Amino acid sequence: MDANDRAWKCGKCDLTLTGKKASFSYLGHTFSHEVLRCPKCGKVFIPKELAEGKMAEVELQLEDK
Ligand SMILES: [Zn+2]
Repeated sequence: MDANDRAWKCGKCDLTLTGKKASFSYLGHTFSHEVLRCPKCGKVFIPKELAEGKMAEVELQLEDK
């Protein structure tokens, strides 16, 4: 497996994902982190360190403004 591809693509749309600032709220704290998002279908790819961390307890809100 090649897990070090720099240009991540959406498996469905075959489009390069774009960086997108997202807000997380975790245990009453809000912080921002950039996630990768497909420009077409809007699927969000969570960075591995977040996905393996506390994501189950974190609310993700994309800043669409
Ligand atoms: Zn997509």
